[in-house]
Amino acid sequence: MARVHNFSAGPAVLPLEVLETARDELTDWNGCGMSVMELSHRSKEFIGIAERAESALRQLLEIPDNYRVLFLQGGATTQFGAVPFNLCGPDDVADYLVTGSWSKKAVAEAKRFCRARVAADSQESNFTEVPDPSEWALDPDAAYVHYTPNETIGGVEYHSVPDAGSVPLVADMSSTILSRPIEVSRFGLIYAGAQKNIGPAGLTIVIVRDDLLGTARDATPRMMDYAPMAEAGSMLNTPPTFAWYMAGLVFDWLLDNGGLVAMGETNLAKSQLLYGAIDGSDFYSNPVRPDCRSWMNVPFTLADPELDGIFLEQAAVEGLTNLKGHRSAGGMRASIYNAMPITGVQALVDFMADFEARHG
Ligand SMILES: *Cc1c(COP(=O)(O)O)cnc(C)c1O
Repeated sequence: MARVHNFSAGPAVLPLEVLETARDELTDWNGCGMSVMELSHRSKEFIGIAERAESALRQLLEIPDNYRVLFLQGGATTQFGAVPFNLCGPDDVADYLVTGSWSKKAVAEAKRFCRARVAADSQESNFTEVPDPSEWALDPDAAYVHYTPNETIGGVEYHSVPDAGSVPLVADMSSTILSRPIEVSRFGLIYAGAQKNIGPAGLTIVIVRDDLLGTARDATPRMMDYAPMAEAGSMLNTPPTFAWYMAGLVFDWLLDNGGLVAMGETNLAKSQLLYGAIDGSDFYSNPVRPDCRSWMNVPFTLADPELDGIFLEQAAVEGLTNLKGHRSAGGMRASIYNAMPITGVQALVDFMADFEARHG
């Protein structure tokens, strides 16, 4: 059976070349007579896999030497709690910029562990834009400023990095990391669940500046404490070895395909193709302010929601799958991460034009 164009928001499409390499190496990795899944995480083979993955990620993102890279478990959601545990005490203020579902969840969890406050939100626009920086009520004494560069559900993305002054900036990059170059030195801490743009579910990446390590409050569970985790090379316990290996294959694939500059150009072209099709029709629409639209997650609605079911059914017949919008948003959503080729987006745009001609 042929591979479909998988527009899932996550777990999401992986590059075919990566899956083929994993398949070829599945039962016997590099002549060691066993799969990566069967290797001890303390073996020299796995340590090599782990180190190569980290060094490829460092090369891709040009991560400065004063940042540590952690390969963790628990998903981005665990980081919603780990961040306040590590970066502030229970009475400290932490500022949150709220632009949709994920940043709302992040601040709600942080409120359980510190004086987390909403410094700005875009509620008034029903979360269809990034709040204007002139309206941000940032506390200069906050322990950190947290934001969500890309809201995976609403399809709202910051196209520049917020200015938090000297306060450490914390970013939940789950659905946008590796989609284009970024300047890591602008951030105190970056975290991302792997299953959108990195690899399989089960792995969470944290990139944290040295000076933010070692300040976790006493009650921090060790598994959430960045300092001992960094000290142990992310191996305080058994790490998600296979997901780590797969992430390494994805990083190699990105390097082989021109790195993040090339990826950014392709992702911009893909998003322009899809938004162009939506804006060029009266049948499809996207509510997000054009300068805040996501390159990665494109929600759209049909003029007649009664047609949603038929749209999804006929799209699936054409091999265009997982286009149903998030249960909280309705309509459609096309997630077009790094591993979605522009030919997949073109196939979707062609189908949309054809569907409109038949039903519009
Ligand atoms: C998917 C997602 C999450 C949740 O990730 P888990 O790994 O399932 O915990 C958090 N934030 C953003 C921006 C996401 O896209």
